[in-house]
This record gives sequence, C-alpha cells and structure tokens, in this order.
Amino acid sequence: MQLLDTSEIDRRRVLGVGVAVPGAVDAGKRRLLLTINLSWRDVPVADIMEPLLGLPVVVEHNVRSMAVAEVRFGIGRGLESLGFVYLRTGLGAGLVVEGHPFSGGVHGAIEIGHLQVLDADQRCVCGNKGCLETVVSDRALSRAAADLDVNGENLLRAIWDVRDEDPRAELVIDRVVAALAQGLATFVNLLNPELILLGGALGAIPRPLFDQIVAQARAAVFPVIRESVQIEPSSLGGDVGMLGGAAVVLEATFYS
Ligand SMILES: [Zn+2]
Repeated sequence: MQLLDTSEIDRRRVLGVGVAVPGAVDAGKRRLLLTINLSWRDVPVADIMEPLLGLPVVVEHNVRSMAVAEVRFGIGRGLESLGFVYLRTGLGAGLVVEGHPFSGGVHGAIEIGHLQVLDADQRCVCGNKGCLETVVSDRALSRAAADLDVNGENLLRAIWDVRDEDPRAELVIDRVVAALAQGLATFVNLLNPELILLGGALGAIPRPLFDQIVAQARAAVFPVIRESVQIEPSSLGGDVGMLGGAAVVLEATFYS
C-alpha cells in the first residue's frame, strides 16, 4: 500500500499483487501449502492479503516465479524451457515449459534440495537422509562456516576465499561442488531445459567456483545432451524475486 501511494501510480492500472512464497502452492494460486524451513502449512495467503490491499493477489512458488521472470524480462526471454535453481535458506528449483510456469501434477514442487545425492547419513529437515540440502543450504553452510571460523554475507564465497589457507575449507568446497553438480546433472538428465540459471547465493559466487560446478555437472550428464547443457548465473540479480512477483500477475492475467 505504501509503495502504491509513494509511486503515485493510478490504482486502477494495477492488475494485482504477485506473492512469491517459499513452498508449494495450490492449483488456484491462492494458498501456500507447505514450507518445511519455516514450518508453515496451508496458509491462505491471498485470502489474508486481498482485503488488506483491495487488489487481486496471485500466489506462486518463489523459484518458479523467478524462472518466469527470466523468460519475460531476463536472459531467458523467448525461450521455451528454462530451469531456475535458487540457494538461500534452502535449495529450490522452478521450471518454465513451453513458455509457461510448469506446475506439474502435485502443485509444481520441484524439490531439488531433497534429491538424495549423498551416501551421508546426515538427517535432513524433511526427515530423509543424505539430501542435497544437508550440504547445500544456508543451514549447512552456516555450520561449515562456524567450524572454519569464517563469516560473510555470502558464506560460499567466504569459505572459497580461505581454501588456500585452510584445507578443511577446500574439503567443504569439494563436497558442495560435488553434491550440487550431482543435483544439477540429475535435473538436466530428467528435464533438459534449454537454459538453467543459478540464483540467490549461487548467483553471486566467484566465477572459477561457478565454472567448477558447471564442469562437474556437465561431466555427469548423459553424453548426448552434454554438449547442449547451458548453466549461467541469473541475469536479474537481487531483483529476480520482485520481478517474479510481477511476472506471475502478468502470467495469470495475460498469458495463461
Ligand atoms: Zn530433505
């Protein structure tokens, strides 16, 4: 409301408000069904916000909305298929297929963070063992950074920066790269989108680390599709979530 007031945009020209939530949403794009990391379950986001805003609200999975933003406004403009992988609290993925967000049969939840890629017996927040998020998530990286006594806004970058002085940091990096590459290779082998973009903390890591992840992922991809694999940093930076919110309203109003 404050934003609308200060922007002086005529309210009648605002189609709606897109809310990108960190979890699966219902088919009507009105409710958040489950966010394990926040312990949120079945939250009627649109019903809560619409009376407060006086505008239609569209609720979408946060990373899927980022994938839509990239095909509408970013480097993926015009592509038929695009995958987006986002690292923040957890590791999420979103997919665009035939130019539209792919919601799938079970509310479009693509739980890349809960692919079991490791033989480790570490328990994940989801209840399973060996999930990608037990190595690549804010929680896992915070634990590793505390052990190494490093700090920073981007923990992956901070750990990378001390790898020459501390062999334990190098081990953490090796493990993150291996797990992430395995997850990305599985994503490519199953879905093979034209372009995969990495965002959040993964969009702001040093290029040599990024290239290492891509090289290992590429090596693990099935040979016939290996050459066509394209993995790049998100082109919309820190604004991708906000643009995703706008993109899903346009999607619901014009493109669906
Ligand atoms: Zn898990």
